[in-house]
Amino acid sequence: MLSESISQGILVVNERQEIVASNQRSNQLFGYDKDELLGQQLSILIPNEKREKHRKLAEGVYWEDVGMREMKGRNLLGLHKNGDQIPLQVGLSPFSLYGNKYVLTLIEDLSMIKEKDNQIYELNTQLEKKIRLRTQELRDTVAILKREVKRRKEAENKIKDALQRERELNDLKTKFLSLVSHEFKTPLSGILTAATLVGKYNTEEGQGKREKHLKTIIGEVRRLNTILTDFLSIERLEQGKEVYRLADFSLSKVVNEVIYDANMILKDGQKINYPQNIDDTIINQDERIVGLALTNLLHNAIKYSPEDTEIDFRVNLSENKITFHIKDQGIGIPKADQKHIFDRYFRAENVLLTQGTGIGLNIIKTHIENLGGNIYFKSKENAGSVFTMELPLAKT
Ligand code: ADP
Repeated sequence: MLSESISQGILVVNERQEIVASNQRSNQLFGYDKDELLGQQLSILIPNEKREKHRKLAEGVYWEDVGMREMKGRNLLGLHKNGDQIPLQVGLSPFSLYGNKYVLTLIEDLSMIKEKDNQIYELNTQLEKKIRLRTQELRDTVAILKREVKRRKEAENKIKDALQRERELNDLKTKFLSLVSHEFKTPLSGILTAATLVGKYNTEEGQGKREKHLKTIIGEVRRLNTILTDFLSIERLEQGKEVYRLADFSLSKVVNEVIYDANMILKDGQKINYPQNIDDTIINQDERIVGLALTNLLHNAIKYSPEDTEIDFRVNLSENKITFHIKDQGIGIPKADQKHIFDRYFRAENVLLTQGTGIGLNIIKTHIENLGGNIYFKSKENAGSVFTMELPLAKT
């Protein structure tokens, strides 16, 4: 009676492995009717492949002293009447009664537990899948956000750059205006003084002085003219209106003119060494630009060198290229400023007390490059500079 109310299956087996008792739960577990199992061999409840092993195990149980071989919670497979294998947990309790030995087997159906395990496993798998999905979604969102942040940062930087450029441009404009005003003021007052003085020397003896003052006036007017030409050049270059004219011309003629002009502004004891090998040389280039560039380079060499120094002017001619070198023994260009020398309005920190606009080199570099040439320099502070200008030559 007691065995019928219990939720586990109970089987009692004698020494010959015959089933002598089976409760309702047992019958139900294995799919048999009431009393159908009685007298049957236990092996009918065991899958074929496990029978041999079980037989040995069962023998062991009987050989041992009763009570010594209690076995708890062993998981194994049972055989249902319909042939299905069912997972079971089995506990064995050997006992003896009236000299006969028996084994009481308590059986727990694990299929429910297995089923639950499976469900839990299934749920876990789904959960993991969801977590993986959400993690991926999060990663994607983070990636999108990162891209967005990067895009905004770039946009912000662009705006900052534009603002910075705008500021620099404003600074440059202000600087330029004050430079130009200053540049005009000095020659104009030089001209005024010289012109006033010229008027005072009206006798024959004053001729020498008169000439000196007239030379000053011419020099200063030339300087003003150069500044204005530079200024207009910028405008033309920027609007792409500059027109170049390639033609044959005498190199020595241009060089002589340039040096003649430069001589006007030489300082005391300064000397320009003429290029040697250019007589009768005809080249095909833009005469105006060659003259402009050489004037600029020579004027700088004079301006940025002290008295009693020499300026070497050399020309190298090859079949398709002409190279000019203008070398001075002047103040040179500080290393840190060298990379900016061709920037518009840039002036090195060691020339700030000398007049100038920082435009000339920028303009001639643009012209030279427009003509397919190249301009560069080497310089050492307090030792001197050498500017090199190369221009391609068409066949004459
Ligand atoms: P500017 O002479 O009117 O300042 P340039 O464009 O001709 O302008 O020259 C730019 C700068 O390059 C000068 O301000 C000066 O700092 C430097 N520079 C050019 N030529 C020389 C030179 N021969 N020796 C030293 N510095 C030079």
